[in-house]
Amino acid sequence: MSTPAYECDLCGACCRGTLIVEAYYLDALREPRILEADVTGRKRALDDLDYEWSCVLLAAGLPCRFLGDDGRCTIYSTRPNTCVGFEAGDEQCQEARAKMGLPPLQPRQPSELPAQAPPFVS
Ligand code: SF4
Ligand code: SF4
Repeated sequence: MSTPAYECDLCGACCRGTLIVEAYYLDALREPRILEADVTGRKRALDDLDYEWSCVLLAAGLPCRFLGDDGRCTIYSTRPNTCVGFEAGDEQCQEARAKMGLPPLQPRQPSELPAQAPPFVS
C-alpha cells in the first residue's frame, strides 16, 4: 500500500505560533536575517548561538515574521532545518491545524497526483 500524499494548502498554521519553531547557529549562518527575527524582539549575534541549546525563537505564541501574507515562507530556500523537516500532513501539521480550528489536511487521491510533484515555490 502506498503512503498517502499530502499537498500543503498554505494555511500557515505551522508558522503562526501554535507550534514552537526554533532556529540554531547553522540556520543563522545560512540565513543571517534570522538573528533579528526572535519573537521576543531580542536581537542576537551569531556568536550568541554558538553553544548548545542556544536558539532564536521564530514562532511561539506569535507568528514567524517570515510568513508572507500569501501563506508562503519568504525565506523558503534558506529556512531553518526545523522547517525543512516539517511535512504537510504530518503529526505537527495536523496538530497546528487543529489548534487553529482548521480541519485535518486530507491526502490527495491517486487520480489527483501529478506524474511528478511540482516544487513548493516561495
Ligand atoms: S500546517 Fe500543514 S497545510 Fe498548513 S501551511 Fe503548515 S504544512 Fe501546510
Ligand atoms: S521560517 Fe518560514 S517555514 Fe519556518 S516558521 Fe518561519 S515562515 Fe514558517
